[in-house]
Amino acid sequence: MTTVDLAPETDKVDLTGRTALVTGAASGIGRACAVAFAAAGARVRAVDLDEAGAAEVAAAIGGEGRGVDLAELDALPVLAADADIIVNNAGFQVVRPVEQFPPETFRRMLAVMVEAPFRLVRGALPGMYERGWGRVVNISSVHGLRASAYKAGYVTAKHALEGFSKVVAVEGGPRGVTSNCINPGYVRTPLVERQIAEQAAAHGIPEDRVIGEVLLARSATKRLIEPAEVAQLAVYLCSPGASFINGASLAVDGAWTAQ
Ligand code: NAD
Repeated sequence: MTTVDLAPETDKVDLTGRTALVTGAASGIGRACAVAFAAAGARVRAVDLDEAGAAEVAAAIGGEGRGVDLAELDALPVLAADADIIVNNAGFQVVRPVEQFPPETFRRMLAVMVEAPFRLVRGALPGMYERGWGRVVNISSVHGLRASAYKAGYVTAKHALEGFSKVVAVEGGPRGVTSNCINPGYVRTPLVERQIAEQAAAHGIPEDRVIGEVLLARSATKRLIEPAEVAQLAVYLCSPGASFINGASLAVDGAWTAQ
């Protein structure tokens, strides 16, 4: 396994004066986004179900932490009203064949990964339009573009997020707002570490074989992605150089979806 050591390149982007709301900011990709946006000068609102985790990351970056269950949809528009940047990142995975997939889990996945982004963006757009500038960065997945077995809730939610992102791009483009999806392959985060441990137990094989033979089977680049690599692209999408990137789905997947 090779890993990458990242220089903090995002400190070249200046987001001073912008407010960035990052969901799922207590862990993994969301935490890396909170750190990267703060490093670029943005005021970061770190939102997570894990209130202590959100407070901890907020304290580390000089931001604001909020303990919020994104499935509680009615609270969300106010939370986002003053945001210039929304990073829709919070999500979770449940792996089960369709015929055994719990309907209430399917519904919660759609609430957290589709309807919460809709409510947040809906709440933020009037302010973004007024200021003539806004950035929506949706952390989708290769599973927003491709299916895998046993991930009905997740694949359905991510495909829906792709559609929503494009509508915001089309409506927002003339008014200074862009909306894009980032589509990572497997990223080294607790979400994936849990899957690796479960698969190792299910197949009775060591974890490094799960990574190489199962997770990275379709990736031409044989390593996990680091959360900071995803966060750097999220910050780049909010930089002046990226203002024409709108309605795109950017694969960060080691050529998984190229095949
Ligand atoms: P993670 O489990 O490390 O972090 C997810 C965070 O979201 C957690 O802090 C969790 O508390 C929070 N969260 C979950 N449900 C919530 C809710 N109802 N309300 C508020 N917060 C909630 O996961 P991660 O790997 O960093 O994943 C982040 C995003 O990236 C997800 O949308 C995931 O689908 C996507 N993604 C991850 C990978 C990967 O390989 N890790 C690949 C592609 C896409």
